[in-house]
Amino acid sequence: MDADIAIVGAGLSGLVAAAKLARAGRAVVVLERASHAGGRALSPDVGPLAMNLGPHAIYRHGPAWRALADVGVTPRGFVPDGKGAVLTWRGDVHPLPGGALSLATSGFFSLSEKVDIARVLAGPVSIARRAPGGSAADFVASAASGERAAAFLTALVRVATYTNAPSQLDGEVAAAQLARVLRSGVLYVDGGWRTLVGATEEAAVSAGATLRHARVTAVDPSGAVALEGGDVLHAKHVLLALPAASLRALAPSVAPPADAVSSRAACLDLVVDALPLPARRFALGIDEPHYFSVHSRRDESGPLRVQIARYLAPDDDAEGARARLEAWVELVQPGLRAHVVAERFLPDMTVQSAIPTVEGGGRSLRVGAIRAVGDHAARGLLLDAALESVDNACAEIAVAMPRPRAA
Ligand SMILES: Cc1cc2nc3c(=O)[nH]c(=O)nc-3n(C[C@H](O)[C@H](O)[C@H](O)COP(=O)(O)OP(=O)(O)OC[C@H]3O[C@@H](n4cnc5c(N)ncnc54)[C@H](O)[C@@H]3O)c2cc1C
Repeated sequence: MDADIAIVGAGLSGLVAAAKLARAGRAVVVLERASHAGGRALSPDVGPLAMNLGPHAIYRHGPAWRALADVGVTPRGFVPDGKGAVLTWRGDVHPLPGGALSLATSGFFSLSEKVDIARVLAGPVSIARRAPGGSAADFVASAASGERAAAFLTALVRVATYTNAPSQLDGEVAAAQLARVLRSGVLYVDGGWRTLVGATEEAAVSAGATLRHARVTAVDPSGAVALEGGDVLHAKHVLLALPAASLRALAPSVAPPADAVSSRAACLDLVVDALPLPARRFALGIDEPHYFSVHSRRDESGPLRVQIARYLAPDDDAEGARARLEAWVELVQPGLRAHVVAERFLPDMTVQSAIPTVEGGGRSLRVGAIRAVGDHAARGLLLDAALESVDNACAEIAVAMPRPRAA
């Protein structure tokens, strides 16, 4: 046997699993096809700055936050304050209500819409439970009848869940995520998510895990893992820490079905030398699924990270997304283009490879020695879902392998 555990994929899921299992005394080898670890959590440079691949925020005190803390990784960064945030509606810009006072004084919503929105902000989960088994669209419909309030709540769900599939997304999951964001906020990580990748990789390697750069071409329920070039590695347990599409290629029996709904985004990552006036730091499209946010601290000197995204619906083909984003940015922050010093456009990123849907039932995540983990393998969202699935798999392995190597 070459290892107790072979982990395929060194994104944050694979790295956190490696750190947890190596710390528990198992012999762990991580196999990664790319020349470095990180996957979708990398923050490659855009001109002078490291920038996440599209807007990334970690949900404070959620499952991912706790799983990182378990392996000694504390995300450092700042909570965006939302001051001066705006929403856009049919070509106009309005203040975005960020609390009870700004909602009460908003000229955008009618009185009855304000009451509906205030109720949702006070307790989204209890409202979603009134329509059990419903979708995010059902949740919004049961909470608000006015057109603007419904569009606003839909946009809040979109930004909280990073998902533009209201008819498919599970309503209670969406409401729980909205509640968490309202309660605890999100964190923009200083230096980008690559700092989390670096710290997690360090935790794994210093606990004894080995990272090997090799593409896995096949896995067998016996624990045999075939690598490009012909090597075969044998492990007691194999964790496939892969998004759905890569998982389907290696182990379709533990992968979500081909018609699983994913969440996707077109992302425009800009480095700017200054914000023109009005210096808006956050904007949310209400009639269009658009997001704009400055991911640099207010007191940071030098160029700023501006992250812009269009949340793609399941049937959107991403064609034309860039032109729409560019036009919208001009509405939100006129003259910004002249301040751009570097940029990157990512037309179609898979944000979550299978979202929790209304119909989605449980599926088997295990066949023989193989277990699947990742953003499709728990009934949550994004990195929270991915690391919750890692926790579950590591707990199962701890039961299956009660005697660590060092004992
Ligand atoms: C635009 C965008 C925005 C996002 N924003 C947020 C956010 O705000 N909040 C949040 O919580 N999450 C967000 N996410 C999701 C988050 O980035 C991922 O959940 C997280 O990075 C964990 O990914 P993972 O390790 O499960 O998968 P990945 O990062 O995809 O890692 C899989 C790894 O497996 C490797 N691999 C694939 N096939 C093979 C093979 N055959 N052999 C060997 N290696 C292989 C890949 O190279 C990759 O390194 C966002 C994602 C995107 C794309």
